[in-house]
Amino acid sequence: MLNDPRSHGLWEKTAPPPPPAPRLEEGVSADVVIVGGGYTGLSAALHLAEAGVDVRLLEAAEIGFGGAGRNVGLINAGMWVMPDDFPKELGPVYGEKLLDLLGNGPYLVRELIEKHGIACELEKNGTLHCAVGPDGMKELEERARQWQKRGAPVTLLDRAETERRIGTRAYAGSLLDMRAGTLQPLAYARGLAHAAARAGAKLHAGSAVIGAGEANGRKVVKTAEGEVSADWIIVATDAYSTGPWETVRREQVHLPYFNLATAPLGDNLRRSILPSREGCWDTREILSSFRMDQAGRLIFGSVGALRGTGTAIHKAWARRSLRRIFPQLGGVEFEAEWYGKIGMTDNALPRLHRFGRQVIGFSGYNGRGIAPGTSFGKLLARHILGHVAEADLPLPFTEPKEPGLRALKEAYYEAGAQIAHFAGERF
Ligand SMILES: Cc1cc2nc3c(=O)[nH]c(=O)nc-3n(C[C@H](O)[C@H](O)[C@H](O)COP(=O)(O)OP(=O)(O)OC[C@H]3O[C@@H](n4cnc5c(N)ncnc54)[C@H](O)[C@@H]3O)c2cc1C
Repeated sequence: MLNDPRSHGLWEKTAPPPPPAPRLEEGVSADVVIVGGGYTGLSAALHLAEAGVDVRLLEAAEIGFGGAGRNVGLINAGMWVMPDDFPKELGPVYGEKLLDLLGNGPYLVRELIEKHGIACELEKNGTLHCAVGPDGMKELEERARQWQKRGAPVTLLDRAETERRIGTRAYAGSLLDMRAGTLQPLAYARGLAHAAARAGAKLHAGSAVIGAGEANGRKVVKTAEGEVSADWIIVATDAYSTGPWETVRREQVHLPYFNLATAPLGDNLRRSILPSREGCWDTREILSSFRMDQAGRLIFGSVGALRGTGTAIHKAWARRSLRRIFPQLGGVEFEAEWYGKIGMTDNALPRLHRFGRQVIGFSGYNGRGIAPGTSFGKLLARHILGHVAEADLPLPFTEPKEPGLRALKEAYYEAGAQIAHFAGERF
């Protein structure tokens, strides 16, 4: 997007087009104005418009420009945080409520895809969290125990079953989560946008919000050429925030993450590598992820930015890693490459903010935004509609809080990933 082939890579090549979303060039009125055209904003727009609410959505660049168009496409249930740590961190009421919402998030994604006929390569065969060595296996055993006591459909697989499903002996075992799956992330975002537009939401791309205030008792947001006055503002700008809600960006530490996609693999390789197309990631601290798209391209990713010296270092490391994990692949070339920034919060949990009266938003999904963004967008809509009281929300409203040493941590993540990948982290 915006003439940068490394922004959305494969997803931009294979996603169906977005709906028309003309730049806002006038002053208009609405019930709700939504800022940001990712999963959170689009899901909120869809659910509000379906309820008959007059909605305008303003997106700075293009629909799916932020994390929604750049991610791996793993529809995860839950966060990195262990299930038992949710109530420890948030207290028993919020903790279990949030966990329940996140655990069921992938079902909402499937339901919307099916209901609105969204063509986004949905795969429902689960995800495999892959154990690196005995420590990785121990972590997964604990994760399985904590989810299973809550009735979640997760199963610990041994090395042999993991090998059968993935086509590698590299992992000591894996945790299969049948709630989860994969999709084409930009196609899903664009599909939500089509559904929202059909329901009556008015979408404007190329319309960055650059100012916000109040006039005549209403909220007003301004773009370069237009403005919207509304009763409510939903802030759905997350890691790519610019403009009046820069505080959302400043409370996150950005972790760069890249993806590389091979050309479609031949039939024999497709029978041996992920024949059921589960989405995978591993238990390493600098983790790797891999999955197939529907055309049989293997998509491999890890922490790092494809810029400067990072481009060559990460690509060389990815080739070496793929040869190690899947020797049957032989040498690989990549057909597409892209990267983005993941917004991390200090406790690795999302945030709910009230930026002013009737100005609200969720953010900080820590690399887990497909299902949470969809669920939180719907929840914001239901809160505005009066269907969910403040007391029933899964998080308390909090003020954005900037973590210490943010810039230093971001530089450390980018440089640290380069050093680790240059040194060639042995598998
Ligand atoms: C490389 C990468 C890999 C990831 N992998 C996964 C994964 O496999 N699974 C998963 O669940 N999640 C993953 N994530 C996280 C996920 O993509 C995000 O959590 C999700 O996109 C957040 O959705 P959102 O709608 O809140 O924000 P975004 O999708 O980031 O959308 C925010 C939008 O707001 C717009 N915006 C910002 N400021 C303004 C303004 N002033 N005016 C108007 N518009 C504005 C931006 O242009 C952007 O389009 C990954 C993220 C990255 C970057």
